[in-house]
Amino acid sequence: MSDKVNFGDQPVSPEEKTRRVGAVFSSVARRYDLMNDLMSGGMHRLWKDRFVARVKPRAGEAILDMAGGTGDVAFRMAKRGARVTVADINADMLEVGKQRAEARSLPGLTWKVENAERLGFEDSSFDAYTIVFGIRNVTDIPAALREANRVLKRGGRFFCMEFSSSDWPGFSNLYDAWASNVIPRIGKAVADDEESYRYLVESIRRFPRPNAFKSMVQDAGFIRAAAEPMLGGLVTIHSGWKI
Ligand code: SAM
Repeated sequence: MSDKVNFGDQPVSPEEKTRRVGAVFSSVARRYDLMNDLMSGGMHRLWKDRFVARVKPRAGEAILDMAGGTGDVAFRMAKRGARVTVADINADMLEVGKQRAEARSLPGLTWKVENAERLGFEDSSFDAYTIVFGIRNVTDIPAALREANRVLKRGGRFFCMEFSSSDWPGFSNLYDAWASNVIPRIGKAVADDEESYRYLVESIRRFPRPNAFKSMVQDAGFIRAAAEPMLGGLVTIHSGWKI
């Protein structure tokens, strides 16, 4: 890896980025689900429904939901009968997720603290790997994609949903104004944490455009890599297959 990486708009060492991303999610964990609704006007629920419809989880198959946080995507897949391992680098996010799963009496979930860059799972362990709004926070993204490929079985499916900047000019300006001015203020009012939400906005702006990320998915060894941009690429569902 290069000497410096970006934490939002600030150049920092790779170790510092991982540490500061950890601090962001520990800080937001308790308010994360409420903030998702406020920041997206509830849209994240529709995006996650659409994402899971693309994954098509089947009863009994093993799915790794990486950077699974408080379990939103994992819950949707477990309801369809999949055996889902929710893995995340941040134990505070997973703890909130476990409590939510208990409250909903959801079976079929395993929770594990894992860094996406160096997974503790054996080769060829999973039928599908999902990562939603997680990969832009990972310090070494190519390493995480290679690990996704390694832990998938032959014929396994890779699915990622991530934000980037939109290329619809009017919408993009509107979104930028909302993201730069309103989201950090909501973060301050609701979670008393403006800085963490400023980081989240900056990291969205910096994430590669859909075609650039599609090339990274291909470089990690996936075939038939595809990008399905929504809202001009503000949110994109990426997919690929392991052979
Ligand atoms: N997937 C969930 C969702 O959509 O609601 C959570 C998304 S949240 C924006 C991003 C998650 O990525 C956080 O829970 C964070 O701890 C996790 N994360 C960041 N870096 C990671 C890494 N290197 N390995 C695993 N998880 C990581």
